[in-house]
Amino acid sequence: MDATRADRVLIAGGGIAGLAVRRALRQRGVASLTLERRGDPADAGLAINLPGNAVRALAQLGLAEGLRAVGSPVRRREYRTQSGRLLFAVDEDAFWGAGARPHCLRRGDLLRLLGQGLPPGDLLQGRAVAAIDRTPQGVAVTLADGTVEAGGLLVGADGVHSAVRRGVCGAQAPGAAMLAPASWRFMAPNPGLEARTLWAGAGGLFLLIPVDRGEAYGWVSVSGGGDPDLAASRAVFDPFPRLVRETLAWVLSRPGTVHHAPLEEVRIPSWNRGRVLLAGDAAHATAPVWAQGAALALEDALVLADLLAERGDWDAVGARYEALRRPRVDHVQAMTDRLSRTARMPDWARNLLLPLIGPRSYRATYAPLRVPVSSPSAAG
Ligand SMILES: Cc1cc2nc3c(=O)[nH]c(=O)nc-3n(C[C@H](O)[C@H](O)[C@H](O)COP(=O)(O)OP(=O)(O)OC[C@H]3O[C@@H](n4cnc5c(N)ncnc54)[C@H](O)[C@@H]3O)c2cc1C
Repeated sequence: MDATRADRVLIAGGGIAGLAVRRALRQRGVASLTLERRGDPADAGLAINLPGNAVRALAQLGLAEGLRAVGSPVRRREYRTQSGRLLFAVDEDAFWGAGARPHCLRRGDLLRLLGQGLPPGDLLQGRAVAAIDRTPQGVAVTLADGTVEAGGLLVGADGVHSAVRRGVCGAQAPGAAMLAPASWRFMAPNPGLEARTLWAGAGGLFLLIPVDRGEAYGWVSVSGGGDPDLAASRAVFDPFPRLVRETLAWVLSRPGTVHHAPLEEVRIPSWNRGRVLLAGDAAHATAPVWAQGAALALEDALVLADLLAERGDWDAVGARYEALRRPRVDHVQAMTDRLSRTARMPDWARNLLLPLIGPRSYRATYAPLRVPVSSPSAAG
């Protein structure tokens, strides 16, 4: 073990949060080492929808141009009933403006972008963090293969089932809470959609977002039920428009296309203890009703990297980081709860209310998130 590495940050997890922390630190001249358990990302072939604050954060990470080259902008959002009637629509282009236009792209492209232009030596793949020890210089982590790596501070960016969370919350660390077991993601041919479109029915939700190369990204959820086989819930979508039924039939006829993706969330009282901090889903996984997972992870990275670069004493960084990030995360969680309550209403009530409260709720959720989290001078 190299005990002299008190000036570098260890990052557990090379997903969106971990790679964003790595990039933001590099922009600010702070050394880091990222340890990723997998050899290849689990869901790189699926897509991800990025609202404007995620797009702005990527620009601050120096990736505005790179982002334009992959996926496609999401200019409009529509909410429809199960019979296809439009409940409300939002002009996302106008709401966010040209510098922060929402975007949908493959997860693999996003991960590649985050690593763009960085020397590969500070990212080790196939290395799982197994244990954490505090040292006089900061933190040492023991990897599953027995190797030990030392650093001045550890960022746990290891996702919803974070092992590092135990280092922050102790042996009684709360696990992730299951919100909805019956949820699936897939890629399918784009049936000619131009808007991000959600159909909501009595028994389920069906979302399609255009990506690129004629493909759309889909997400399906059904009420109750824990059967991981989407085919068992097919009848829920019989009353939905033909376009939905045909897309579902296409997906179900191709084994391996559908990824079972239960919704889980993490709400814990603290994200830091000494020089061990949490970022992204490890700290605050939230149901993706407002698609804020990546955005919050990218913003965590920018704020944390600013603090680590500015302050000589890393002991106080954790508390300051959490104080800066909590209000934004609390806001997203509160708005997530509010929309989830609306989604659980009886069909008739939801269809009556959404044309009135839908556009207001969109504005109330996203307007505070239009404010950038860190100074534009940090842009690379
Ligand atoms: C169905 C569904 C749809 C979603 N849709 C969207 C969307 O459209 N837009 C959006 O912004 N968000 C969406 N999200 C949320 C988004 O995927 C997450 O918020 C985001 O991936 C969080 O990134 P992360 O890096 O914090 O965690 P992860 O992506 O989970 O990355 C954690 C990484 O840590 C690694 N790891 C785990 N344990 C260890 C260990 N012990 N040692 C080393 N490495 C380890 C893992 O292999 C992984 O690579 C969705 C989530 C779900 C479930």
